[in-house]
Parts: sequence; structure tokens; C-alpha cells
Amino acid sequence: MTKKIVRYLLSLALLLALILGACACSLFGTNAGNAGEQGDTGGTQSGDNNGAGSTAGPDGSDDTDKGDAGKDDPDDPMDDGNDFQGLKIIFPELGNTSNGDCTLLKTGDTEVLIDAGSKRESAKRLVPFLREHCTDGILEYVIVTHAHEDHIAAFVGQNGTDGIFSSFKCGTIIDFVSKNTTSRISSDYIAWRDNEVKNDGAVHYTALQCWNETDGAQREYTLAEGISFQILYQKYYETKASEENNYSVCTLFTQGDEHYLFTGDLEKGGEESLVQNNDLPHCKLYKAGHHGSKTSSNDVLLSVIQPKYVCICCCAGSAEYTSTNENTFPTQDTVDRLARYTKNIFVTTLGSNLTSKYGCMNGDITILTDGTQFSLTGSNNSTILKDTAWFQANRTWPSYGVE
Ligand SMILES: [Zn+2]
Repeated sequence: MTKKIVRYLLSLALLLALILGACACSLFGTNAGNAGEQGDTGGTQSGDNNGAGSTAGPDGSDDTDKGDAGKDDPDDPMDDGNDFQGLKIIFPELGNTSNGDCTLLKTGDTEVLIDAGSKRESAKRLVPFLREHCTDGILEYVIVTHAHEDHIAAFVGQNGTDGIFSSFKCGTIIDFVSKNTTSRISSDYIAWRDNEVKNDGAVHYTALQCWNETDGAQREYTLAEGISFQILYQKYYETKASEENNYSVCTLFTQGDEHYLFTGDLEKGGEESLVQNNDLPHCKLYKAGHHGSKTSSNDVLLSVIQPKYVCICCCAGSAEYTSTNENTFPTQDTVDRLARYTKNIFVTTLGSNLTSKYGCMNGDITILTDGTQFSLTGSNNSTILKDTAWFQANRTWPSYGVE
């Protein structure tokens, strides 16, 4: 081909990309509030230490969401103003139809980011989201559970320069010991992670270095008075896993007497090891493993942690991995197992088998807690999973489930 033809083809491709980009924007909208199916905008789930949980009315009578930001009521320990000294935990939507994980935990000016999926393009959603919450531009801790695209892609973004690593200064990066995958995104992730260490002052440890407290790594990190996290042990830090998900780094946050558990995409063998090797407490909050897949949240783990609130990062009902309805996330099996312990289950995003469209379930899920009081608010609504239209059309709540 002559150079002229190549140039012509390139400009044609660019034009096509621009047109497709414009279409995608109008299809996807920006973020919350575009589903409208569940109604019930706003409202807050709140509970005392027993985690009873009650749904506030649509008028948000005990509302603690963004509407209060900046009011700064010094007498209200749960006021989400600039002086909020508790812990804020956010599960953001990822801006597309693909399942993936991201959790931001924040106390004062200290942030912990766990994972950043689901696709490279999710950086377009997550970088502005993080700028809103991480105003000093420094993510003190970044935890990356395993090397699958749906947990790492937004750290890199489309070309590295627009990803989270390039957009923020990172303090301590803690990630997986091993990977089997040879995917391009996993090697890009490692290259950009190493660049953070070499050129931007970050420190990098694996979960095993943290567990063994070698090379300056710590098993436990204190975020604020009474708030800390610890890296838990599971055997796949040191043995080969046939399934990438079992390499997941597991983290337990503690705030006073309360605990919040994050296990990435850990599957049954990993969950068994996690239970055997750690003295796990009852957990107020559990991010359901592997997007609510039937391979995770097994009874071996749930019977020990007995979660009171469960958040699931997924696109509910998406046919991304299976066309069998009951096995789409969150699976009927997972619902059946969680139902013994809690009905307070929340899901970020509503998927679609049309593949090009998505909507919100709860939307971005925000939890505020001072260790005693606990509130949960979805940017779209705060409806518990079993009461949603999607659940009622696609899942059943078992007769033995918590009512
Ligand atoms: Zn995943």
C-alpha cells in the first residue's frame, strides 16, 4: 500500500472512532439517575449497631447523603461535612456494561482504593470520581486484588497517561503475589505500577510481604485513631492456583468494634484457606466475592463472618459471562446463601443483555459510619436487592431467608 492510502485509511478510522464515541456518550449518559426503573430516588438505609436497617422513605427523612455535604453540623457525628471523622466507603459504578470492582475507603484526607475495573475506559468515570473525593491528589494506599482486567484496567486507562496511576500520586501499593494470565492489560498494569514506584515515589509490596512484614511492609496499617486495615493470609499467596481469582488479596478493615471484609474474587478454595488461617470476626459489611458469582460467598466463609450488610459490584443480569439467567450476577446460589444472614444486600449497576446499555441498580453506594452509627445510600435509590423490580423478575428469596 502506498503511504497515501494508509493515511486515507487512518483518517477514515479516526472519523469512525469519533462518531462511535459520540454515539456511546449519548447511549451511556453520564452516571447515576438514568435508569429510573426503580423509582425511589434518594433515601437511606440506616441501622444501629445491631444492623437492623430500616428503609427511609423517598423523602429521605434520615438522609445523610451528599445533600448534607458542607453543612457541617458539629453536633452530628454522622454529618457528611468537611469535618467528618468517621469512615466513608464508596462502591462507584464503573461507567459501562462490564462487571468489575472498585471500592474507595476514606477517613479524613486518607484514602484506600481497592481495585479499579472494569475496562480501560472506566478511567473516564473513575478519575473524575476520585478527584471529587481525593482532593489532595494522593491515594495513600492502593490495594489491587488480582490481575484480571475487571480489577486493574482503570489504573492504566486507554494508554497509561489517562489512567489512575498517571492521574494520582500513590503512597503504598499492595497487590497480588502471583498471576497466571499473560494478558496485555496485566503486563501494562505492572509496567505502570513499576513506573509509579520508580518515578513517582510510591512503595510497592505484595500481600505476602505484608503478611511476613518483610522489606518494610506491614501486616496492619492504621488510617486514623481507631481505624485500621490488615492484610489477611490465604494459601494462594504461596501456592499455585488454577484459577486466577484465588490469588486475590484479602483485606479486613476495623473501626472500633466493627469489621468490613474485602476478598476480591476469591473462590471456594481460597475462602476455606482464609477461614483456616485467620481468626475472622463477624463483619458488619462484606463486599460479596467475585461480583456475586456462585463460586464465591460460600457458607464456609459466611457462617463465620455473618455479614449484616453486603454490597455487590456487578451489572445485575448481564450476559457477559453466561446466558443462563440464574447464573448471571448476582447468582441465585449466592442469594440463597446470603439470605440466611441478611436481607441488606445492595448492587451497584443494572446490566442489560442488549450489551450496549446499562442502568443503575442502587448506583454509587455510599456508606458513612462512625463505628456505631451506619448509613448506606445509593445515588439512584437505596432499595434492598430483594425488593427491586429486577430481583422480583429474575430471582427468588428463599423461604428461610431473613425477612
Ligand atoms: Zn472480577
